[in-house]
Amino acid sequence: MTEREKRGRIGGKSPNPYHEDKKYPEPTDCPRCQLVYRNGRWQVKDADEEPKTSHSSHCPACRREMDLLPAGLLYLSGSYWERHQEEILNIARNQSASAAAQRPLQRIMWIEKAEDKTEIATTSSHLAQRIGKAIEDACKGTLAIKHADDSQLVRLYWERSE
Ligand SMILES: [Zn+2]
Repeated sequence: MTEREKRGRIGGKSPNPYHEDKKYPEPTDCPRCQLVYRNGRWQVKDADEEPKTSHSSHCPACRREMDLLPAGLLYLSGSYWERHQEEILNIARNQSASAAAQRPLQRIMWIEKAEDKTEIATTSSHLAQRIGKAIEDACKGTLAIKHADDSQLVRLYWERSE
């Protein structure tokens, strides 16, 4: 287990500040990304909405970004990946953009290129799976999904060699 994964483990009894279902007083502003919590969910503010409300709290996505604690990790590898990196990263970015339109808490946190594989970290396990499946649909290859024991972190491995 890596350091990052260890930090991602949260005891079953303790409240999980990253949980998207955590309740906040309404309305609450996120001072970092300017989303507002209203009607039980974090959403983009309407254009005519007050910039500040009486409550302020970081949204679950910003908490993960500040703490560097992703909910999903997708690894890309293989010689096909080496040859088509930009094309495949565009699939990832497009999936992220269309997810964000509906679900602003689903974000790519980083894309880190290493020698043998590239890591895409996301604030939501759903987004990592969505990106992984879109890459598999478009580029074939194989996609493996591994849930951590406590299901706080999903890891996906996409690989294509030919
Ligand atoms: Zn935020």
